[in-house]
Amino acid sequence: MTGSGEHGDFQDHSEPSQGVQLGFDTRAIHHAFDPVGFSRAVQPPVFMTSTYGFESVAANDAAAALGGRLYAREYNPTTEILERRLANLEGAEAGLVVSTGMAAFGALVLSLLSQGDELVVHKTLYANTVAMVEQGLPRFGIKVVSVDLSDPRNLDAAITEKTRLVYFETPVNPLSAILDISAIAERAHKRNVKVTVDSTFASPALQRPIEHGADIVLHSLTKYINGHGDTLGGALLGDAETLNTLHETGLRYITGATLSPHSAFLIMRGLKTLSLRMARHSASALSIARMLEAHPAVAWVSYPFLDSHPDQTIARKQMSDGSGMLAFGLHAGFDGARAMLDRLQLLTRAVSLGDTDSLIYHPASISRARQSIRKDAHLIEGVGEDLLRLSVGLEDVGDLIGDLRQALQVL
Ligand code: PLP
Repeated sequence: MTGSGEHGDFQDHSEPSQGVQLGFDTRAIHHAFDPVGFSRAVQPPVFMTSTYGFESVAANDAAAALGGRLYAREYNPTTEILERRLANLEGAEAGLVVSTGMAAFGALVLSLLSQGDELVVHKTLYANTVAMVEQGLPRFGIKVVSVDLSDPRNLDAAITEKTRLVYFETPVNPLSAILDISAIAERAHKRNVKVTVDSTFASPALQRPIEHGADIVLHSLTKYINGHGDTLGGALLGDAETLNTLHETGLRYITGATLSPHSAFLIMRGLKTLSLRMARHSASALSIARMLEAHPAVAWVSYPFLDSHPDQTIARKQMSDGSGMLAFGLHAGFDGARAMLDRLQLLTRAVSLGDTDSLIYHPASISRARQSIRKDAHLIEGVGEDLLRLSVGLEDVGDLIGDLRQALQVL
């Protein structure tokens, strides 16, 4: 299949040839790009342009009538390859990439919800998504209903005639709790409500929510999909009609939060090694989770593929591996977490996640510090003062374990 666009040069390398569907890694490397039209360059071109010229007024009219491709806020050939590649990997019909994960959430809710509509969310979400649902959306007359979706039956009472969308993360940031995608989607669909899953913690290499009944998938591309901690990005993947709305409304005039083609190039470079990286992140995180669980200073560990994880069965049903994210708490609580962080020599004290470098942070310290500038800053529902979130990177696992052990020694 030849791709869309005037260039007509993007070829879908993952189209089944003689009935064979190419594998995930092959598609992550090749899908939606044919080098033939580009001097056989092995890597996709980066189109740094703000607008596109037309050979005549009639050609310009025709392009406008087809819905755009006039201006780089709405269309760029480089970002389009990334959109098509991500959609393919998630099993979606279409995709949209934007400048950050938060821009993706903004485009989603501000395009699909109007005054008087209701949004159902799981009670624990990424802190800035919480800010948007608690402070942003109510200002526009959108009601947000926060429920505990760890029991999908709670959805039944939360959905009303006005509910337009159910939104949750799995794994849940920062708890590494797991929500049952198919059970939630089934209940939402019975009431004709669409489901969006933020799958940032897993990436499509480990979890593809659409295969479990979700309608739309959101990613912060900043995390595992780029994977190298050197750019921000966000994506929405789903059915063609909804994605057209998100593109034509959410990106074009509501947020205008275009992804730079240079960032799209970097994210495509990261994407090529996604499943290799996720295998290493997952293996190292499991070893670290087991070490922490056996350590006398550690009170609890949450890692989806640990035998002790309460949602382990659901995790194994919808994820092929555990990812690199884990949460834990120390017997020494809030002060112990701070003391341990200060003793680390190799792991980096930083927010964000999914990078080559191991990153660790203490949400309670950050939220207390923020209170000096924002009185309403608070810890997210379900997050304790002792919780440490660890994003296990790609360093040698023995070195990471050694650093954590020496930091825990005095506690
Ligand atoms: N969703 C999750 C689960 C996240 O962890 C984050 C950021 O940490 C976001 C969304 C927002 O993504 P971004 O930082 O790219 O705006």
